[in-house]
Amino acid sequence: MSRRPIMAGNWKMNLLQNDAKSLIEGIKSGLKELNKEQLPEIIVAPTYTSLSVVSNMLSECSCGKIALAAQNCHYETSGAYTGEVSVEMLKDIGCKYIIIGHSERRQYFSETDEMINKKAKAILNGGLLPIICCGETLEQRESGVTDEHIASQIRAALSGISNEDIAKSVIAYEPIWAIGTGKSCDAVEANRVIAMIRNVVEELTNSQTAGSIRILYGGSVKPATIEEQMSMSDIDGALIGGASLKSDSFNEIITNSMKVAV
Ligand code: PEP
Repeated sequence: MSRRPIMAGNWKMNLLQNDAKSLIEGIKSGLKELNKEQLPEIIVAPTYTSLSVVSNMLSECSCGKIALAAQNCHYETSGAYTGEVSVEMLKDIGCKYIIIGHSERRQYFSETDEMINKKAKAILNGGLLPIICCGETLEQRESGVTDEHIASQIRAALSGISNEDIAKSVIAYEPIWAIGTGKSCDAVEANRVIAMIRNVVEELTNSQTAGSIRILYGGSVKPATIEEQMSMSDIDGALIGGASLKSDSFNEIITNSMKVAV
């Protein structure tokens, strides 16, 4: 089954509005050089404060090639949740995707599997699409519980969600020890874990849904690593942190990803 690749940039807590504008300009000019028919789906996830400026630039350019994502949301629709942002607000500002369950949110903001499941349901009910992150610590990997841990994160995140909604969702496998460390997971091993995730999705749903859902790899993806990663059978794209903050490296990742026939 052919799945359209995704190259998604997670800007984390970086870039002021003017920096965000320059980055989008740089990405857009890089895209002009590329064959439109073969472009992966490109997603950028700015901070909340730059969503508006980026959204305006993306709609003005009518390129329709870059989708907007938020890095988080709240699962309630409205109310007394100071500092939080709802799915409807993110839809209103032009988001198509929302990243949830990033390891930094699990680690620093105590997000639980249950909260991530509530967020996934709120996102899908609100007409947007979740990018659900999962991944193991180095300690878990070394003690041999990687698969068990990730399978349990996926079962919890997708609990009570229809097959149709699961098929439209995106999962990102991001081994925590590979995030921001410059040390990418070996592509064959990342592919093995992602194939395992696809099997878990199949157990929860059916083969058609498991064949449709896109599963990305994230963790120190660079222009030099993406071609091998994209040559793997089950890796459908990348969630990119550090290397998405400069248009040169992000564009090179996109270009190199396209060298692999899908
Ligand atoms: C991330 O935080 O989602 C990520 C993959 O970061 P980096 O590419 O910098 O490792």
